[in-house]
Amino acid sequence: MIVTSPSKLSLAHTPTPLQHLKNISSDIRGPNIWIKRDDWTGSSTSGNKIRKLEYLLADALAKQSDVVITCGGVQSNHCRATAMACAQLGLQCHLILRGEKGEKPEGNEFLDALVGAKISYYPKSKWRELEKIFASHVEEYQSLGKKTYCIPTGGSNALGLWGYVAAVKELNEQFKEQQLSVDYVCCATGSGGTHSGLSLGFYLENSSVNVRAYAVCDDEAYFVEKGREDISSWSRTYHYDLDANDVVLDVCDDYIGEGYALANEQVLNTISYVAQREGIVLDPVYTAKAFMGLLDEIKQGKYEGCENIVFVHTGGIFGLFPFASRFNF
Ligand SMILES: *Cc1c(COP(=O)(O)O)cnc(C)c1O
Repeated sequence: MIVTSPSKLSLAHTPTPLQHLKNISSDIRGPNIWIKRDDWTGSSTSGNKIRKLEYLLADALAKQSDVVITCGGVQSNHCRATAMACAQLGLQCHLILRGEKGEKPEGNEFLDALVGAKISYYPKSKWRELEKIFASHVEEYQSLGKKTYCIPTGGSNALGLWGYVAAVKELNEQFKEQQLSVDYVCCATGSGGTHSGLSLGFYLENSSVNVRAYAVCDDEAYFVEKGREDISSWSRTYHYDLDANDVVLDVCDDYIGEGYALANEQVLNTISYVAQREGIVLDPVYTAKAFMGLLDEIKQGKYEGCENIVFVHTGGIFGLFPFASRFNF
């Protein structure tokens, strides 16, 4: 059964390249590792979020919204990509950021301010009332006669899932072109949409490719439940008859370390290693933790017998700069 996908904008530079990590693959003497360069979906819009925003912001425009409201951490890549895309589309952007205003905004926070996003800061302790916070801002704009469009954390909802459901088609074409037999596609997971989009996408294609995600915040049970919810909501919304339990959601939560956005020595070493061996920059919040997990699990024998593994580089470069002083050269 073919589901027609909802309309989307063209914001991301796709297809992004699929490259072989020659040096690292030779270092590990295991499976070949390939990298899907979704850090190349744009420059200021780089990363995975823009693939979801192509659908979400098309919906915002179709609904004649004036202001887009979304949320995330102070260094949220999702918020930065949303702010950038809104500037491009002539939409107002209001960001709800978790944490304190930096003395001098840097990295993603700097870029948010640069494109003129309105930013409201809320301490972590208030985050339990996130829905109320959204509602109060929506009301504020309503009283000004402005229509709002709210995007949840990371753009991970039924509509956002399309971003990576569609990316699976792109990947499959590249596998065919490059005559690659792929065992695993691996990625980091934070709000769940990239992982569940990929898992759903390969499921819909009846593919034998496995998808494995490395968690950077919550545990496996959380991500499996969130994925099931989003996939169920997707199937209801787009009238696709499936049982969300049939879609395999494979999550590893062994590499979160000290917590979300906290990077230890091992994470920073992974960033240096990949930069020096391949000329590729990972980020300390998502991709370095996931890649560290992948390398470690290869060493532990988890991927025994695999020929090709694809790691999705989901971006995040601007989040590295606030960590610069942690590196010793
Ligand atoms: C948000 C993000 C992720 C996680 O993607 P989700 O769809 O939120 O799970 C991974 N890497 C980077 C760089 C991100 O910004």
